[in-house]
Amino acid sequence: LIGRRRVVVIGAGFAGLECTKVLAGTEVDVTIVDRNNFHTFSALLYQVATAELAPGDVGFPVRGLFHRAPNVGVRRGTVRGVDWDGRRVLFDDGEDLPFDVLVVAAGATTNWFGVEGAAEHAFPLYGMGDAMHLRNRILSAFEAADADPASVGDGHLTMTVVGGGPTGVEMAGALVELFAVEEKDFPDLDVSAARVVLLEARDSLLGSFSGKARQHALDELRARGVDVRLDTAVARVDHDGVTLRSGECIPSRTVIWCAGTEASPLATTLGLPTGKGGRVEVGPDLRVPGWPDVFAVGDLAAIADGGDGFLPQLAPVAQQAGRFAGREILRSLRGEAPRRFHYRDLGTMATIGRRAAAADLRFGIRLTGTLGWLAWLVLHLWRILGVRNRAAVLLTWAWNYVTWDRGNRLIVAATDPRPSTD
Ligand SMILES: Cc1cc2nc3c(=O)[nH]c(=O)nc-3n(C[C@H](O)[C@H](O)[C@H](O)COP(=O)(O)OP(=O)(O)OC[C@H]3O[C@@H](n4cnc5c(N)ncnc54)[C@H](O)[C@@H]3O)c2cc1C
Repeated sequence: LIGRRRVVVIGAGFAGLECTKVLAGTEVDVTIVDRNNFHTFSALLYQVATAELAPGDVGFPVRGLFHRAPNVGVRRGTVRGVDWDGRRVLFDDGEDLPFDVLVVAAGATTNWFGVEGAAEHAFPLYGMGDAMHLRNRILSAFEAADADPASVGDGHLTMTVVGGGPTGVEMAGALVELFAVEEKDFPDLDVSAARVVLLEARDSLLGSFSGKARQHALDELRARGVDVRLDTAVARVDHDGVTLRSGECIPSRTVIWCAGTEASPLATTLGLPTGKGGRVEVGPDLRVPGWPDVFAVGDLAAIADGGDGFLPQLAPVAQQAGRFAGREILRSLRGEAPRRFHYRDLGTMATIGRRAAAADLRFGIRLTGTLGWLAWLVLHLWRILGVRNRAAVLLTWAWNYVTWDRGNRLIVAATDPRPSTD
């Protein structure tokens, strides 16, 4: 007698969740594992960092998603390895988890590109904790400048964003909007001295977008007061700011690293075959070649794009791959032959701020300005998990738009050193 197949999904991000949703209510037993007890809608993390949205608006408790799926279990834990012979997932804490099929969807992490001092002094924006940390830092900078106005010239109010991809562009645009609110909060401080510098090593912003989108982002950010510097590479980051390859120093106490990502180190820890960027190069059926019961999906996987390259590390790629892996597991149970994964490209978009965004959509549709911004708003609202989150985000956006406010300007430091299981 063969028991029910046990599937373990590592990662409750975009890929892992979609895979688990496909398997919910089917004939397999699934456990979805994550070090956090929530899913993060990373596309809006920059709005948490700039006090526009609250953390709970862009995070969703994983257990809440599977209340009605008795075959799905949730395990909060940090995976530290896999015992391949015994087919068990190993954790930092707690019991091992046996599996028959493993889906590795542990995402990516910040890539510091070996820049000296970056990991120590720059602020990453990858997870919810990063966004909260950054929010504290940005708001504290204004408080510190208010307490000691003479410090402004030392770069206390200069925020440097490294990387002109979508995250860097969105972050830079949101910061200048936050400065407008800070002007009301600090009537005695010369908030006009606050600056945003955006550094991009290549010759344009939004490198993977159309020419129209790239130009729009550049023009809009400059018009809003962002000091955009193209062809500008960072050589070093330290406590006082950034040193460029040209030798120029930019005094800046808040350096925000939006320069890129690399695959989660878990791929290497697990001993999976990795290629460029530490990503697992999967076969056309998203299985790890030579490992028939192991799938790698999402940012951690390198999925061939049909040409010479790989699909981009984007949420829709992760979601579609996750769904495909779930269906593939069910197909193999029925004894069906593996299929090929095909990505349906839905386009890309980035917002610059109030009534400005760039959207490169399907069928060559290119939207910028207010139309692009409306498309961006609708799509992001539609993609956020949960009706409550959607309603909260819609209400907050509407409120902020009308009042020019940022209601989440709280500096919240963790104070309780006791372990959470006490
Ligand atoms: C700031 C930011 C903005 C972005 N904006 C956009 C955007 O606008 N549009 C877009 O399409 N894409 C965007 N992306 C990219 C998008 O978020 C990723 O492509 C997507 O999250 C990949 O999904 P994933 O499931 O592979 O990984 P993730 O969604 O990152 O999920 C991985 C999960 O694995 C968990 N995990 C990792 N290691 C372990 C471990 N050892 N043990 C247990 N759990 C573990 C993590 O906690 C996480 O929940 C953005 C990314 C960032 C960081």
